[in-house]
Formats: sequence, C-alpha cells, structure tokens
Amino acid sequence: LRRRIIRAEKIEVVGHLAASISHEVRNPLTVSRGFMQLLLQSERVNYKDRQYIQIAIEEIDRAEAIITDYLTFAKPAPEHVERLNVKTEIERVIDILRPLANMSSIEIQAFLLPFAVKGERQKFQQCLLNVMKNAIEAMPNGGTLRINVSIDKDYVLIHISDTGVGMTKEQIERLGEPYFTTKGTKGTGLGMMVVYRIVETMKGDLFIHSEVGQGTDVYMYFPSYYKSDVEKSSKRSLEQVSC
Ligand code: ADP
Ligand code: MG
Repeated sequence: LRRRIIRAEKIEVVGHLAASISHEVRNPLTVSRGFMQLLLQSERVNYKDRQYIQIAIEEIDRAEAIITDYLTFAKPAPEHVERLNVKTEIERVIDILRPLANMSSIEIQAFLLPFAVKGERQKFQQCLLNVMKNAIEAMPNGGTLRINVSIDKDYVLIHISDTGVGMTKEQIERLGEPYFTTKGTKGTGLGMMVVYRIVETMKGDLFIHSEVGQGTDVYMYFPSYYKSDVEKSSKRSLEQVSC
C-alpha cells in the first residue's frame, strides 16, 4: 500500500512539473532570445555568425510555439472538472489574442451567451485558443473573426469562423494529424491535435467547413452542463419511483 501511495505522489509531482513548464521555461527562453537579439545588433558580429544567431532565435520561437499550443493556461496546481461559463472563458481567450488580431487588422465579432459546460478550465481555454489562433493566422491581411455561441438540443455550440485562406479537402482531412502544418517553421502542427483530444475528453464533437480563399467555419459542440444535471436528477427520481 505504501509503495502505491508513493507512486501516486510521484505521478502527481510529474503532473505538477508539466503544468509549471509554461512559467518556468518561458522566462529563460525570453531572456535568451533578448540577448541574441542584442548580439544581432552588435557591429562586431560578422555575417556568418549573424546567420547562426538567426537560426538560434528561430529555434527559440519554435519552442515557444510548442509551449503555446500545449500549455498557455497551465498553472502549477492540479486541475479539476467544474462548471464553466462559456461566455467568460471565450472572453478570456479573446483578451489574450486581441494583440495578435490587431497586428493583422482583424476585427473580432463575438456573440456570446453564458451557457454552461463541464470541463477543466485550462484545457477548455487551450482548445478555444488553438482554434481562434489558427483563424487569426489564416488572415494575415486582415479579415473578421466571428465567435458565436448558441444551443443546439443538448449541446452548447461554439461556432468560430474566419474570412481567411481556407483549406483544401486534403488539408481538412489531415487536420489534427501530429506535425501537420502549412506554416513552415512557424507552425507546430500540434494545435489541432490538442483541440481534438480536449473535445473528445469533454465528450464533445467538432466539425469543419472550409473553402479555399473564402474562409473556415469550426463548429464545436459540448454537452450542456444543465442537461447532464437534469438527466442525472430525473434518473434518480425514476429510481426512487421504482423503489
Ligand atoms: P499549426 O497552426 O501549428 O500549423 P495546427 O494543428 O493548429 O498547427 O493546424 C494545422 C494546419 O491546419 C495549419 O497549418 C493550417 O494549414 C490548417 N488550418 C487550421 N486552422 C485553419 C484555418 N482556420 N484556416 C486555414 N487553415 C487552417
Ligand atoms: Mg495552430
């Protein structure tokens, strides 16, 4: 028994470390990048060395992108499943992405309603972030990012649409495949894999419609919190009746 308890503790520590990565690793990465940027500006650095430094900066950006796709909201505390207000969570993600949207002159239109779903806050936010970030990155010359919340039967529907480059059938099919990216060294090809995994854990569903040159619609369905609660309580009352 004791051994089992120690093992459980160890697993908890591992989870804890993973969650700390975004905080603990991002800072040194930022500092290293800053110094390399300084080196680039130095007159004593020759052309060849400048290229090496450039490569080092790109690799740091790559590490940063991987952390972003996995651990933007990770906190050094264990997560738990709770009731999440869809409106609040989307607003938080929009706040984080607004500077990125502004850089490409993207207008964000959000029609949000405070429906409730059940899940882990960090994961849910990560999933929304990855989809919305893709939408923004699909519109390098500006456009509109629209986020719409509605109810469809027992599901909360989050509809995220962009007026960006769109995808071919082949690209849509490969979506979520690890390392599939059309963004070269700037992409990780991990964002959608994470999204699919989180949607699955939350017992949701995801559909994509996309036209090349027109834009992309992502439909994310999550079981409504209230419905699952109502079901449970009605089942309980049925059981009571049958007793
Ligand atoms: P990454 O963003 O790092 O490339 P993702 O897994 O997030 O990795 O996305 C994989 C690929 O799917 C992207 O490189 C892009 O080609 C395509 N994609 C995803 N979302 C969109 C979108 N909204 N519009 C156009 N293409 C998209
Ligand atoms: Mg992405």
